[in-house]
Amino acid sequence: MRTRPLGRTGLHVSEIVFGGIPILQQDYPQAERVLRAALEAGINCFDTARGYGDSEAKMGRALAADECFIMSKAHTTDGARILTDLEQTLANLNRDHVDVYAMHQVGSAEQLAECLGPGGALEALRKAKADGKARAIGITGHHRPTLIAAVEQAGDEIDSVMLLLNPLELDALDRLVPLCNERGVGLVAMKAAGAGVWDSAQVLVSTKWCLNQPITCANIGFATVDEVQAAARIGREDLTLTDEDEATLQRLRDQYELSYCRRCGECAPCPKGINIVGTLVGESMVKRLGWAQLGQRNFLENARKARDCDECGLCVERCPWALNVPALLPDALRRIEAMA
Ligand code: SF4
Ligand code: SF4
Repeated sequence: MRTRPLGRTGLHVSEIVFGGIPILQQDYPQAERVLRAALEAGINCFDTARGYGDSEAKMGRALAADECFIMSKAHTTDGARILTDLEQTLANLNRDHVDVYAMHQVGSAEQLAECLGPGGALEALRKAKADGKARAIGITGHHRPTLIAAVEQAGDEIDSVMLLLNPLELDALDRLVPLCNERGVGLVAMKAAGAGVWDSAQVLVSTKWCLNQPITCANIGFATVDEVQAAARIGREDLTLTDEDEATLQRLRDQYELSYCRRCGECAPCPKGINIVGTLVGESMVKRLGWAQLGQRNFLENARKARDCDECGLCVERCPWALNVPALLPDALRRIEAMA
């Protein structure tokens, strides 16, 4: 599989990165089969997180330290806490270092200020890097302005950004992607193949589309060996989009443009206390994480608040994508309940 340099890190990672969420729902032997298949298909970089249940431990058991790169991350802004998380990550992975350790889901100016301030996560990761426990420092998030600010303020130290990018979420191409490229910051596209609800042809063409953008790699979650092998072919074959690819992209846009929630959070807060994002993307969360990880009872209770919607229209006014949220919520709830 082709590799690309991850910014200035010196790491050359495969164009397809193994996303470590779907293995959460598998037992260790199943997860090992999919992970080893990825390695055999040429994938040399695996993404996981402290927040992904036993995903780190499964990678630690299946992948030897000298076989591949691993990116992991911890959802905290606090320096002491992220170092504790890093030690746990290393224990789970059975390694003495991780290739990228990221500040996970930094989603607001306040959180970023905590990360970058005294005693914050960046200061701690600087030390971890100097100690050889993390080869590179990353940041991930769904909130594009926060990621832009992170690179503007700390792009000399932040080596890699994991951002939302796919044919329905293009906004990062305007400012964030060029900025990272100017600053030598690696770019890992997440939700590069949607988030578990697109069909297999749409997943593959979305991945291919992403790799046509000026990024390093596409992070794809795999549940089966067949999925790994199909996606890995994209990292070996010509990336030129064919007429058939363009038709599939058009079908994807036609089907999801007005119903796909980009998780930007601009619609919040709802006066009725409805968790709009959590409900609209609930089906994908259940598919990817499973009920055990999410906590079925609370998750369903939360989603059922959608029934309180009085169609006030506030969220529709706020949504940059003009999603008709009140019309989408009942169907989103029905699909979540169907999986319970
Ligand atoms: S339309 Fe419904 S979901 Fe949207 S803000 Fe109003 S009550 Fe909340
Ligand atoms: S409904 Fe619209 S505003 Fe709300 S998170 Fe989804 S895309 Fe963003």
